[in-house]
Amino acid sequence: MKIPKSITKLIESFQSLPGIGPKSAQRLTFHLLHFPQERLERFANALLELKSGTKICTICKNVGEGETCSVCEDKSRIKNQIIVVASPMDVFAVEKTGYKGLYHVLHGVIDPLNSIGPEEIYIVDLMDRIKGFEDSFGDALEIILATNSSMEGESTAMYISKLIRDTGFGEDRVKLSRIARGLPVGGDIEYADEITLSRAIEGRIDF
Ligand code: ZN
Repeated sequence: MKIPKSITKLIESFQSLPGIGPKSAQRLTFHLLHFPQERLERFANALLELKSGTKICTICKNVGEGETCSVCEDKSRIKNQIIVVASPMDVFAVEKTGYKGLYHVLHGVIDPLNSIGPEEIYIVDLMDRIKGFEDSFGDALEIILATNSSMEGESTAMYISKLIRDTGFGEDRVKLSRIARGLPVGGDIEYADEITLSRAIEGRIDF
């Protein structure tokens, strides 16, 4: 039997997504085949608008709808606290904990095996933010490193902290901390529940 092209094309598209194997890709495709045309179009439009309807914030690199994201726009956020995360998905997780500071989204972690070096993620932009930081009360800027506890996440956190100190920012200008307690080793922060994650932020250690 020859499978129609539109079916194989969709199966291949699903299969290109993380965590979706050939079986799941087939199941999803045949599931969608039962959808009425109108529902399919809504689904397709949501996909199309995913990229065209979002923008990367010029300040923190989070995903938003305008030039700057809603967190950076929010005047009530604590300006001298920046939590550094690997992906915009981590921002959603941290927001649920009631965190009131700012973010910096790296869009990845340093991963030499997959040819991702420090230049491939938004580390330079973080350094520029640190250099441009001024506090009217003379308070230090706190950088909370919240990358995953995987090997890549750990080495990214180490790289950033070393870079900050090597650039000449001492304890008086930049306070460094790393989220710790409560997160399982190798556990992804996007999957942590709110309580575990908020404890990990509260129990951060100097880095
Ligand atoms: Zn922002």
